[in-house]
Amino acid sequence: MRDTKCLHPKLQKSISLLKAECEKQDLKIGIGECLRTAEEQDKLYAKGRTEKGSIVTNAKGSTYSSMHQWGVAFDFYRNDGKGTYENGDGFFEKVGKIGKMLGLEWGGEWKSIKDLPHFQLSDWGSTTAKLKQIYKTPENFFKTWEDDAMSETERQKFNLLVEQVERLTLAQEKVYHYTAELPDWAKPTIQKLLDRDIYSGVSKSDLNLPETLMRILVINDRAGLYN
Ligand SMILES: [Zn+2]
Repeated sequence: MRDTKCLHPKLQKSISLLKAECEKQDLKIGIGECLRTAEEQDKLYAKGRTEKGSIVTNAKGSTYSSMHQWGVAFDFYRNDGKGTYENGDGFFEKVGKIGKMLGLEWGGEWKSIKDLPHFQLSDWGSTTAKLKQIYKTPENFFKTWEDDAMSETERQKFNLLVEQVERLTLAQEKVYHYTAELPDWAKPTIQKLLDRDIYSGVSKSDLNLPETLMRILVINDRAGLYN
């Protein structure tokens, strides 16, 4: 899967930063493989073993030994038209250096199988051992970051709800448009404020005075603020 949204939220942020920094240095990258299923991992493991080609990974799908299966790794490729994996000018080393500065672990520094187009979060070590020990399966691990992702979404939903409630409350509040509508106890205050131009509605013919504001103005008047 090439969808970065399937990756750990922290890695998604790192990718945005990496892309931005690479762009500044005129290094055009594309994002390749992100999250990998056990099945996809098994296919890769077969390469160079039961299938043709050279060995590309030491991780079997069922053992969850690839960081890609845990959503904490991604691969990138060269995207400037010079060839996806063309590295005559040290393109991958340059990108690798930037990624390292952002705190990512770069596959180009591995000893057994070098993986130039690979980055991963370094928070759980170089291998999946710690992740497996703590979470057993990727599914359990994903649940822990759903919380984070949810809280972001939840917060947005909550803010929207607050806005709606505020709007509804405002909509339900009585608004006075004419002085004649005002309750007798408020009339002298509002008239005084209108006369002195302290309060003017939306226009001379429309007070547009919400109940709450009217009450506050009357209280202020009684407190002697407009004397
Ligand atoms: Zn990779």
